[in-house]
Amino acid sequence: MVVGPVTFLLLAQAAPGSPAGFAPLDRLADVLPVYERLLADLAAEGVAWAQLDEPALVTDLGEAELAAVRAAYERLCAPADRPALFVASAFGGLGRALPVLAGTPVEAIGVDLVRGGLDDLAGVEALAGKTVVAGVVSGRDVWRTDRERALAALLAVRERAGHVAVGTSCSLLHVPYDLEAETGLDPELRRRLAFADQKVAEVVELAALLDSAPGAAASTASTVPAAPGRTRAHASLRTRGPAPAQAARSPYPVRAAAQAAHLRLPPLPVTTIGSFPQTGELRAAGAALAAGELGEEAYEQRVRAEIAHVVALQERLGLDVLVHGEPERNDMVQYFAEHLDGFAVTRHGWVQSYGSRCTRPPILHGDVRRPEPITVRWTAYAQSLTDKPVKGMLTGPVTIVAWSFVRDDLPLRDVVFQVADAVRAEVRDLEAAGVSVVQVDEPALRELLPLRRAGQEEYLRWAVDAYRWATSSAGDRTQIHTHLCYSDAGQILAAVDALDADVTSVESARSGARLLGEPAVKGFERGLGPGVYDIHSPRVPTAAEVGESLEAALRVLPAGRLWVNPDCGLKTRTYEQVEAALANLVEAARRLRGTAGAAGSGA
Ligand code: GLN
Ligand code: ZN
Repeated sequence: MVVGPVTFLLLAQAAPGSPAGFAPLDRLADVLPVYERLLADLAAEGVAWAQLDEPALVTDLGEAELAAVRAAYERLCAPADRPALFVASAFGGLGRALPVLAGTPVEAIGVDLVRGGLDDLAGVEALAGKTVVAGVVSGRDVWRTDRERALAALLAVRERAGHVAVGTSCSLLHVPYDLEAETGLDPELRRRLAFADQKVAEVVELAALLDSAPGAAASTASTVPAAPGRTRAHASLRTRGPAPAQAARSPYPVRAAAQAAHLRLPPLPVTTIGSFPQTGELRAAGAALAAGELGEEAYEQRVRAEIAHVVALQERLGLDVLVHGEPERNDMVQYFAEHLDGFAVTRHGWVQSYGSRCTRPPILHGDVRRPEPITVRWTAYAQSLTDKPVKGMLTGPVTIVAWSFVRDDLPLRDVVFQVADAVRAEVRDLEAAGVSVVQVDEPALRELLPLRRAGQEEYLRWAVDAYRWATSSAGDRTQIHTHLCYSDAGQILAAVDALDADVTSVESARSGARLLGEPAVKGFERGLGPGVYDIHSPRVPTAAEVGESLEAALRVLPAGRLWVNPDCGLKTRTYEQVEAALANLVEAARRLRGTAGAAGSGA
């Protein structure tokens, strides 16, 4: 199993300094011999089948890319002595790439029939000579497969393909291992779930059902009834989203003036993204609480002590907008899921997030409601300790949904609006408790962007609407911040602008000046904090380096709208690193405030 040559090149980035117009796919002819050698080596070892993953084929491909698919697989299939080739796709339908692939001599093609439809297969005559690996068991969610529906799809594929094999829609990397371990879940919910082990059993079971199913003639009559126990009817139409006017705040200049008068921040205000180091001791206290070894009261005291420490540290370092440090949060999504109705959390349901980092995504299975305020007491406590503004810290509706397993009986948009409703209530309560800056993080905004252009605009429209619904109850003088980290913010800057947050902080310390080089940045009309401290590394930037990054930013942004902040939360760093780095951020900001170019009000 290896990534296929077309995806390998399509997802590669041209090295800096490559000639203009160069695309990695131009090097296909150099890459194919390497694949050929690999396949020959596998054949020599007696390997009968090789799987080449080509998920990039479910994106919008142009003629050149389709030609590359054809050329690549014609060539890899040419040697007589090679394993049979299985080209797998995932995360959507193959569309125009399917007839192209089917026209090559590859032996098997994997199609995602959960996200993609059967329509792609219609009229592709060449499939009659292939094995189609029909991905009818979802590898991206935790729901049991609807047997009837899956079998109907398999029977339809059988009419078109030489042979059908049952499969998952993508690798099972995205789902937890085994439902058996989750003994604490509500039995009603548990009956609806399947984790990786259960999904493998479903594949086996469906293959047996398909084997014993009557032939093609009978299958065309198959209907697709709902699975028992799953509500296909809309369980709630409570929140279909507001009319745009309801989600609008005053024009930005009006708010900016009100905030400047109220917050009285210096130019180039220094702030952080929210979390402070999660010490081992703090995590141990959380674990002891969960295990019942530490009482609520004692835990509460522990968290308050941490908040007091973080506030005192920020005051001492001279930051301008403080945070409470998020010591009570195990994870920025799970914490909210634990305090909202409609979510369940697992005990062992770990999945890989990126690299070696893992999370336990919550399961959003019912209507979402906020029974009571979630973060207010922590933020209000922090604010009671200082005269500087403390920024309340919330996770946005899109990110909460993107990093959860989500019910599939409602359109995603409706689910996001239910969550937005809960976040809106929290923003309102924070404001009522005297908090004048609230950050609503949306690092996953870009993650849910549909892979094909056709759906992107619509998605961005409702995602932005949901964010605005969550934040627009705030009065003019309440400053709304947002933070996007993994997002390639440049690509969706227009949507980021449409979020209408007063201040946006983005990851850019790692991607260097790329973001600032985006033409759209010039048109960005609100506060912007390009990250000037790469928190993904233990390295502490010097004040001089931070100053250089800020000077570069000042060439594109007016001083009145530039913020000084790290590029993400500090929770994975140590206090030693954080203290040194933040001191340098403050020093660099203060030095620049003294220069003429940086006069203005930070709002
Ligand atoms: N407020 C969160 C934190 O600081 C944001 C984390 C993130 O963007 N992933 O930890
Ligand atoms: Zn981040």
